[in-house]
Amino acid sequence: MLTPTTQQWMKARAVNDQIAIRMTKSKAVPKPLKSPPDHQTRTAFQPLVTARWRYFTMNPTETDISLFKRLRFVLVETSRAGNVGSVARAMKTMGFSDLVLVTPRCDHPLTDPEAVAFASGAIDVLEGARIAGSIGEALEGCNFAAAVSARLREFSPPVWTPRQFSGHAAAMADLRPAIIFGNERVGLPNEIVLDCNVLINIPANPSYSSLNLSQAAQVLAYECRLAAEGENRTQEGVGFQGEAASVAQIEGMYAHLEEALVAIGFLNADNPKKLMPRLKRLFARTQLETEEVNILRGIARQMMRSKH
Ligand code: SAH
Repeated sequence: MLTPTTQQWMKARAVNDQIAIRMTKSKAVPKPLKSPPDHQTRTAFQPLVTARWRYFTMNPTETDISLFKRLRFVLVETSRAGNVGSVARAMKTMGFSDLVLVTPRCDHPLTDPEAVAFASGAIDVLEGARIAGSIGEALEGCNFAAAVSARLREFSPPVWTPRQFSGHAAAMADLRPAIIFGNERVGLPNEIVLDCNVLINIPANPSYSSLNLSQAAQVLAYECRLAAEGENRTQEGVGFQGEAASVAQIEGMYAHLEEALVAIGFLNADNPKKLMPRLKRLFARTQLETEEVNILRGIARQMMRSKH
């Protein structure tokens, strides 16, 4: 099994030290958190106060508040090196890079040819992954732990969907969350789940709900990306977009079209029925552009010309 190099650990510690001051159990004074948005969030915070993994975070404006930098993926006792590589790929495609393995059950998970092959272009995430000897070590610098599990338990922290988690994690700028995935065969041990703030369950077919480890990681990474992008996510600038037509331009086009439809005998001016309201409703759904209004008026002009 690989152990992290001193250099890797020093780098990790340096980063952690910038963002978090670890507090001991006895003198921990939890930092007052921002008002939770709802009751569910409030209850979900409860275990944080008693959890083993408790940190005091600095003012988030002094750190990088983007979820892409704050979210850590933790894999517990992963058996297949290929899955480690696939998780690295799932993370990188969605913009995440902080990966920690807790006592992996495969040899050389970061350099195994299967891991490298499955990581594909995400080799940098794989190479940057750290190996920890315990879950506590893996969660250094984190102040929110989420167990990701297919199995619901009798005794469990609050159960969230990936979307509930991602929304919460993206909204709380001072949260340094970790999502913890279990072993391929046995999942996560109860002791870890019970110490977490929440349990994330991916809704799935009740008669076959166990996803492949890296596919579960992909679902989480995707949801977190959507939430992290928030309102920055926009289709503007993608593809051609013309100037929106004005109300006056659209009204002019309707009048012109109506005239043309009468001219070709499609619309009976004495008994118009609902043709124009229906056509207006159709166009109203299309966000007409000036250029398109001009094309429609050109068609109407041609229709009228052909009738004269
Ligand atoms: N047999 C195991 C499943 C292991 S699958 C069990 O019963 O727990 C490997 C890991 O993928 C799980 O530990 C969990 O972290 C994740 N996973 C798979 N399916 C999931 C689901 N539907 N919801 C949440 N996590 C899931």
